[in-house]
Amino acid sequence: YLSEVTEEKRNQLHRQHVATLLTLGEMATGMAHELNQPLTSISFAAQNVDFLLGRQPADVANAQAKVRKIISEAGRASKLVEHMRVFARNERGALVRASWRTALNAASEILSAKLRGCVLHDEVPAGLPDVLGAAIPMEQVLINLIANAVDAYDAQPNAAVRDVTVSASVQGDAVLLRVSDHAGGIPEAALTRVFEPFFTTKAPGKGTGLGLALTFGTITEMGGTITASNANGGAVFEIQLPIATQ
Ligand code: ADP
Repeated sequence: YLSEVTEEKRNQLHRQHVATLLTLGEMATGMAHELNQPLTSISFAAQNVDFLLGRQPADVANAQAKVRKIISEAGRASKLVEHMRVFARNERGALVRASWRTALNAASEILSAKLRGCVLHDEVPAGLPDVLGAAIPMEQVLINLIANAVDAYDAQPNAAVRDVTVSASVQGDAVLLRVSDHAGGIPEAALTRVFEPFFTTKAPGKGTGLGLALTFGTITEMGGTITASNANGGAVFEIQLPIATQ
């Protein structure tokens, strides 16, 4: 019995590790894009400072304004890097109060580059009750589901609208979170298989088939449920997690 428990624990840790690595991949892409903006601003502003101070007489007032711009852009860049560090550390401990609202804010920031050309309808109310969960894994779950919807649109270049809706509501003693799109839906034969590890319909080298398997593991380990279905010409993922009572 004990060796089975240890084995299960080891498998669980392994799954969590893979989940972190996978979403780090998504994150790295967004990050490279997001970091490029402040770095470009810093570089321009620094060239300006060089020019302004080289003038006769030096234009100190304008140079100072540019230096302030450099400081603020560097602050923005280090905030992004700090977020990445917290994410990679990914300490999963006991379940705590966690908020889908906060998780969605973080996920949409990370996905902002990938989401270009797509509309994210945010229908998660600010007053939504906290659930019993864990902040970073919930953020990873949202990243996986939203990124999958965007990938589905990429496979449908003629889609009239490219939108992803995230909504949430209270259902008894649980919070129901819904991620839906209009990207054609999950093929009927795949519906029962999407949570299987390594099941993917994406091109080799593109899909790993692990995203939803890990998402399933994460939600189940939190005592929640997740289902996949099709509606209105798209995929619908529904997650229930218990409301935090204290
Ligand atoms: P991967 O994204 O690497 O393929 P996932 O486990 O995240 O792995 O997804 C498994 C499969 O589920 C995808 O290959 C795709 O066929 C299907 N799928 C997931 N999300 C969607 C979606 N929003 N629309 C259509 N199909 C989807």
